[in-house]
Amino acid sequence: MTDITDRILAEVAARREALVALTQDLVRIPTLNPPGRNYRDLVEWLGHRMEAQGWQVELLRAEGAIGDSDTWPRWNLVARYEGTRPGDCVHFNGHHDVVEVGNGWTKDPFGGEVEDGKIYGRGTCDMKGGIATAIIAAEAFIAANPDFAGAIEVSATADEESGGYGGVAWLAEQGYFSPERVQHVIIPEPLNKDRICLGHRGVWWAEIETKGRIAHGSMPFLGDSAIRHMGAVLEEMERTLYPLLARKRTDMPVVPDGAKQSTLNINSIHGGEPEPEPGFTGFPAPCVADRARIVIDRRFLLEEDIGDVKDEVKALLERVKDSRPGFDYEIRDMHEVIPTMTDESAPVVRSTAAAIEKVLGAQPDYVVSPGTYDQKHIDRIGRLHNCIAYGPGVLDLAHQPDEWIGIDDMVDSAGVMALVLAELL
Ligand SMILES: [Zn+2]
Repeated sequence: MTDITDRILAEVAARREALVALTQDLVRIPTLNPPGRNYRDLVEWLGHRMEAQGWQVELLRAEGAIGDSDTWPRWNLVARYEGTRPGDCVHFNGHHDVVEVGNGWTKDPFGGEVEDGKIYGRGTCDMKGGIATAIIAAEAFIAANPDFAGAIEVSATADEESGGYGGVAWLAEQGYFSPERVQHVIIPEPLNKDRICLGHRGVWWAEIETKGRIAHGSMPFLGDSAIRHMGAVLEEMERTLYPLLARKRTDMPVVPDGAKQSTLNINSIHGGEPEPEPGFTGFPAPCVADRARIVIDRRFLLEEDIGDVKDEVKALLERVKDSRPGFDYEIRDMHEVIPTMTDESAPVVRSTAAAIEKVLGAQPDYVVSPGTYDQKHIDRIGRLHNCIAYGPGVLDLAHQPDEWIGIDDMVDSAGVMALVLAELL
């Protein structure tokens, strides 16, 4: 290892306690989403912490974005540290929102307790530990190499857990991820310290509604049951669509293995009269259902075209229509994301792989995420394709009770990130 590598890793090691403390401080501000609690508190606190270390900090509310309101404003932080000469900008982006606590905890979800080399709490792994790791990595790099070219940015953004519209998408629309401003992006999501995540599969959500005619439940022959029509749709899915999807395999390195094929989940199903209010103890009324709805969640591959994905389902509905008297339906698009995968030869991928080898002594694994994350907005709105997810934390712990992050893993990942900065700046 060279001198500069040694110096950088020594600066990272010297910040071990600071890294733990920063993670704990972030976890102790419960930025629960929904509804989006304490966002302002978090970015304000972090802004002061970073300004004291020489960062230029902007606090930005995503006014007008989906999810933003005066009651629940969507606050984001963007911090920038200029080098002494012109050069590329490396941007670390992490979401500061966390999901609900849920049951089954044995630790304080917002306590940041340390035990056996782990920090516990909601958001430790997904992904306040990752944000803290990126900040400490940048500060260690700057200390070891104050005369660097280019700039480093860190953003802590809202709402990744609910689509990122009040966070990265909004910042991208404001030009924060334009290729003129930022050249390399690392998202420190918890994907394990020895893996580089190149992108994600695509998503299409749609609502399908079948129509019927209401009648008395004692004389269903006088009506037309939307639920039975929906049953025919589900049966046709089992018979033709699921086998078709199972045959579509991708060359993307998606993990886990089950997600290497196209998948379809039925997120919800509802038919007939509304569910009774909680506490209602009576019986439902006997009616033939005049409508039934499902929401489908189709995850598709780089090799698939979204138009074809939609056409498959529409063709299925038409087949049912041809074979069932009285069948009528509507289909509504809800949400879609195109798959994305950064090339393995992209500069941010190559330098991260080299840094992983230096710090961990092993080649990285390249993976693709089964679900989407904020890379979609950087890619599509920001037009920036030199982007990966790389960060400490065990992916399987995200959203679980007793979520934790390993301190050694954070220190190793901070070393990797700091060496990436040395390579790119
Ligand atoms: Zn996350």
